[in-house]
Amino acid sequence: MRHSSRRPRSRWLAWLALAAAVLLAGSNSPAAQSSRTSDYLFNDAHVHLTNYIQEGTTMQAFLKVMGDKVGRATLFGIPLQQEWSYALDGARAPTYYLQSDAPLYYYSFTDASIAMAYKSLSKAEQQRFDPMIIGFNPADMYAADHVRRVLETFPGVFEGIGEFTIQKEFVSAKIAGGPPGIQNRALDRLLDFAGEAGLVALIHCDVDMPFAKQGSKPAYLEPMIALMKRHPKTTIIWAHLGLGRVVRPVKDQAAFVVDILKDPALSNVYFDISWDEVAKYLESTPATAARVADIFNRYPDRILFGTDEVAPSDQTKYLRVYYMYDPLWKLLSKDASEKIRKGNYERLFNQARIKVRAWEKTHVKGSGPY
Ligand SMILES: [Zn+2]
Repeated sequence: MRHSSRRPRSRWLAWLALAAAVLLAGSNSPAAQSSRTSDYLFNDAHVHLTNYIQEGTTMQAFLKVMGDKVGRATLFGIPLQQEWSYALDGARAPTYYLQSDAPLYYYSFTDASIAMAYKSLSKAEQQRFDPMIIGFNPADMYAADHVRRVLETFPGVFEGIGEFTIQKEFVSAKIAGGPPGIQNRALDRLLDFAGEAGLVALIHCDVDMPFAKQGSKPAYLEPMIALMKRHPKTTIIWAHLGLGRVVRPVKDQAAFVVDILKDPALSNVYFDISWDEVAKYLESTPATAARVADIFNRYPDRILFGTDEVAPSDQTKYLRVYYMYDPLWKLLSKDASEKIRKGNYERLFNQARIKVRAWEKTHVKGSGPY
């Protein structure tokens, strides 16, 4: 009797211990982490940790800025460094590309710097970041080799390439060694490798020249579409819907975005709506916002939100672009809003995590410098 009455109690205690263990383990598991992201406002598909002189915020400080509002964020600086030319600018140190005629040059050290800082984070902190490789010259046929070398040197870190720039108003012409050029075959080699390794490619390419003549065909639309079609196995995010600081929505902007979204040969292509400049265009009138919302509601799986903030240092400023989109959020279906703010990001970058880690497993022997 005593024996049998004790047995249920010890079973009960064992069950309690097991339940507690499961709960404790669950709270630290990636699944629990990602289920908690449902409380966040968004995941940031496009944000820069550093500026044009490679200065910015630390990952720890950025995590505090993200706080309980932003679940996950891509992690990259800016590939181009603004040179401080004493001959041109004297003691006036430029911090932005519009502040000097001195050239910009590719700053490859950024990848090592991001990787080392990421590796110093705790596992839980790392879960909130998706690091990208950017320190290559996309005009160089060797660009793909740089990306491969970064994966080999820092396995377990990176999930994408970019944001890198093919065509951007006043930036392209200032790059030492010349602009990348959208016809350049180096881009094909780069995107081939991204596809092979499972890296997401985040590309800035203005769809047109600055101050283009009204009604003229957008200069870079056809070559950009051709480029993306040549790489159906590469996940490509076309940043800012192809818009830029002085590249206003071309007349048929909505039409070309829809053409891309409905083309089965371009199902690898996504758009981000980052940048306050883009938010201004998309929210310019209630009619524009309604037109944009209609497209996004029809293709909710293909659009990602991002801020395009540079080195965000306080939360109010950081969330500004998100709140600029308030009218749009209200016009979206619940499903579309959820996917654009969070779901699409999680799907694309979770896939990249799995694919790139699998590529590293078969191609990288050991870890660290080789
Ligand atoms: Zn950007």
